[in-house]
Amino acid sequence: MKLLCDQMLGSLATWLRILGYDTAYVKEGDDGEIVARARGEGRVLLTRDKELAASYEPSLLLESTHVREQLESVLRELHLSVDWDRVLSRCTVCNRSVEAVDKEAVRDEVPPRAYQEHEQFWRCPSCGRVYWTGTHWDNMRRFIASLRAG
Ligand SMILES: [Zn+2]
Repeated sequence: MKLLCDQMLGSLATWLRILGYDTAYVKEGDDGEIVARARGEGRVLLTRDKELAASYEPSLLLESTHVREQLESVLRELHLSVDWDRVLSRCTVCNRSVEAVDKEAVRDEVPPRAYQEHEQFWRCPSCGRVYWTGTHWDNMRRFIASLRAG
């Protein structure tokens, strides 16, 4: 399932990418452009704007301003579940699938400590950003595990 977040849902877009969902994020553009993009790419439109939600199908109107509640609504309403095999499979910045890279190849690109303590690294083929499961990952994992979709 492909998703599209409007400009008010940047944090939600980042988290959906962390969960591995193909999520476009429209930073700017009027409603017409947002709808055209969603239609052109076959995406479910996620928005907090009632009028925008009413003007496009399929869309999901989100009431909450809190990213946890937004995420839980998306999972529940679209019948999605957290697939741990897909978590961290996507670049949070540009939505591309990341690729595993040899540790040696990223030696000069990550902090020395991360290089010492980790064996697995991934790179985004689009923006070049390197990912690893750093110290923030424990908190992220706990947050993801605590999501209530039911
Ligand atoms: Zn990227």
